[in-house]
Amino acid sequence: MADSLKDSWKETGKGLGQAFKGLGKTVIKSAEKGVDKAVEWADREDKITCSSCSTVNPPGSKFCSGCGKAL
Ligand SMILES: [Zn+2]
Repeated sequence: MADSLKDSWKETGKGLGQAFKGLGKTVIKSAEKGVDKAVEWADREDKITCSSCSTVNPPGSKFCSGCGKAL
């Protein structure tokens, strides 16, 4: 009885661990994508630097991603 309870907790822990692993992978993947995107336009000359807060925005941006000011 006690052993089966232990086993079921073990399974629960395994499931949770797997879920967190998956979540972590998703977060890392989306962060990697974000970095890739940033690198994509970081070297472009038509990137837009905000005149009010100096945040560098991707080319074609209408509003500053840092302060929301129209660019
Ligand atoms: Zn700004």
